[in-house]
Amino acid sequence: MNSPFTNGIAAQRLDADALTENFSDLHAPLDGHEAAVAADRCYFCHDAPCTTACPTDIDIPLFIRQIATGTPDAAAKTIFDMNILGGMCARVCPTEDLCEQACVREIAEGKPVEIGRLQRFATDTVMAKGVMPFVRADATGKKVAVVGAGPAGLSCAHRLAMLGHGVTVYDAMQKAGGLNEFGIAAYKSTDDFAAREVDWLCSIGGIEIKTGMTLGTDLNIDGLAKDFDAVFLSVGLGGVNALSIYGDDKNGVDDAVSFIRDLRQTSDLAALPVGRNVVVIGGGMTAVDAAVQSKLLGAQNVTIAYRRDRDAMSASRYEQDLASSFGVNLMFNAQPKAIHGNGAVAEIELEYTSSENGKLSGTGETVRLPADQVFSAIGQTLTTDCGLKLEGRKIAVTDTGRTSRDGVWAGGDCASGGDDLTVTAVAEGRDAATDIHETLMGSK
Ligand SMILES: Cc1cc2nc3c(=O)[nH]c(=O)nc-3n(C[C@H](O)[C@H](O)[C@H](O)COP(=O)(O)OP(=O)(O)OC[C@H]3O[C@@H](n4cnc5c(N)ncnc54)[C@H](O)[C@@H]3O)c2cc1C
Ligand code: SF4
Repeated sequence: MNSPFTNGIAAQRLDADALTENFSDLHAPLDGHEAAVAADRCYFCHDAPCTTACPTDIDIPLFIRQIATGTPDAAAKTIFDMNILGGMCARVCPTEDLCEQACVREIAEGKPVEIGRLQRFATDTVMAKGVMPFVRADATGKKVAVVGAGPAGLSCAHRLAMLGHGVTVYDAMQKAGGLNEFGIAAYKSTDDFAAREVDWLCSIGGIEIKTGMTLGTDLNIDGLAKDFDAVFLSVGLGGVNALSIYGDDKNGVDDAVSFIRDLRQTSDLAALPVGRNVVVIGGGMTAVDAAVQSKLLGAQNVTIAYRRDRDAMSASRYEQDLASSFGVNLMFNAQPKAIHGNGAVAEIELEYTSSENGKLSGTGETVRLPADQVFSAIGQTLTTDCGLKLEGRKIAVTDTGRTSRDGVWAGGDCASGGDDLTVTAVAEGRDAATDIHETLMGSK
């Protein structure tokens, strides 16, 4: 058995009980009484700012009122009407930046209605019963291919199936779910929730998921366009940006997304090796998740180094504070300069930065931190563009997800516009499905 003080990268730093506790649900679910008390705080605002702030436009006051009146099944239906992955979103949405930030009680008292936890209460209630609250419309005879079984693809597939279309979902991985399955922090999605949600969502019928099918090798866009009436691309961002600094090829330098994917898929957390001194480079959710989970695995010292100041970090203040509460050190205005070590990482050299008129530059002053593991979390990239027009580094789309090619839509992280968030991907998948439906049925 190792410990947090064991040098280098090592497995079994903590015992099984400690790991189980560390990776349990970040927020315990509300019980019926707690949900009633939480729902009672809602003013049921007429022009509810919380709903305006929700990318999926869930009627929040309505579902909270339904909980308050003892009808959580109806509340869940209100949520699923707009967001079929409302269960996952209740766990992973940065509500502190979205609905709860806009809540009038947050503005008046600094304590919002707990919208996320109430959403989880309602959606869990229905999913625990295995009830799918929607039925399919009569079959239209139309076939749609969805490429990518993450939140955008699943949301699109469900809406299309509900409208009566036959949907085939292709995914390169052996399991559906996208980053819900392979990316979201383990303590946000416990008890195999992502996989259970996929099964539940598919229980509507009319959706066939084919895993191990990669666009670009097993499939191509011309073939899909020929075989199906419409194609929806939701391939996410599969590539990662490299650090591109001296020494980034040393053992112990890895990308944070792969580390998190391994962590999400392991059946034995104790077997997962982690450094004694871990440094994560980046400022988004991926950086925070890699850092926090390294700490939870038993790393002794974990630092997030971000090149700009705190306010520029894309991880919310809540996520930053969460990392600090787990003992992660946050270092701002520090950019990676070089990685030192003989074959394996021993130290990372960072240069302090300053910003003038938004332009970042190194100050010339450097600092070295001991590190036996360095994770790069500096952004992901599109790997499959199918020759479609791009906007920036993503597939260019209209508001309803139309790409530059007729009959091909795209949404989620791979498509232009919108934040790279689960809830945004769900909204874009849903809206593209509606546009595909209207196009296929000739009403557009
Ligand atoms: C580590 C991490 C943590 C995150 N945490 C949060 C969080 O807490 N809250 C939040 O709101 N958001 C979070 N996000 C962002 C969120 O996960 C994404 O915005 C969301 O998953 C995007 O959904 P998507 O369907 O567009 O893509 P993805 O979820 O990436 O799904 C894309 C799917 O396409 C498949 N695919 C890719 N290429 C091909 C191909 N060529 N052929 C076939 N299939 C292919 C992939 O296997 C994958 O299943 C996080 C992201 C990361 C990386
Ligand atoms: S803003 Fe807050 S109080 Fe008003 S409806 Fe939304 S959750 Fe309720």
